[in-house]
Amino acid sequence: MTESPPLLPAPDELTSFFWEAARRHELMIQRCSACGTYQHPPEPVCHSCLSFDLGGAEVSGRGTVYSYTMATQAFHPSFADKLPFCIAVVELDDRPGLKLLTNIVDLPADGVNVGDPVEVCFRALSDEIDLPVFRLVRA
Ligand SMILES: [Zn+2]
Repeated sequence: MTESPPLLPAPDELTSFFWEAARRHELMIQRCSACGTYQHPPEPVCHSCLSFDLGGAEVSGRGTVYSYTMATQAFHPSFADKLPFCIAVVELDDRPGLKLLTNIVDLPADGVNVGDPVEVCFRALSDEIDLPVFRLVRA
């Protein structure tokens, strides 16, 4: 089978702050300069106060597993050598309801549970792109 190049995000005007921060191994989330609300994914307008004055702000990188599934089938050839892997929704500690679709990595043998505490870490996908992912925080 031929090697398939990885699917990579394409940073644009709205999302480049997120990917530039990830290259520095920082998690930045879009934050409204007018009312302080964090929101993700980035949008042109604040969901809370409708301001267009938005920027990126570094967050704690800590959260809890809100939901997850284990991928056992590769829906793109570039994922074939990563199976099985965990796709999760993580709710960040910085604001109730602030959620990120991500992966949980370095899973222990007994797996992951909803409500488990997690922290951000980063995986290089290419020379340009580091992906924010999460791992379990052990007590
Ligand atoms: Zn706002």
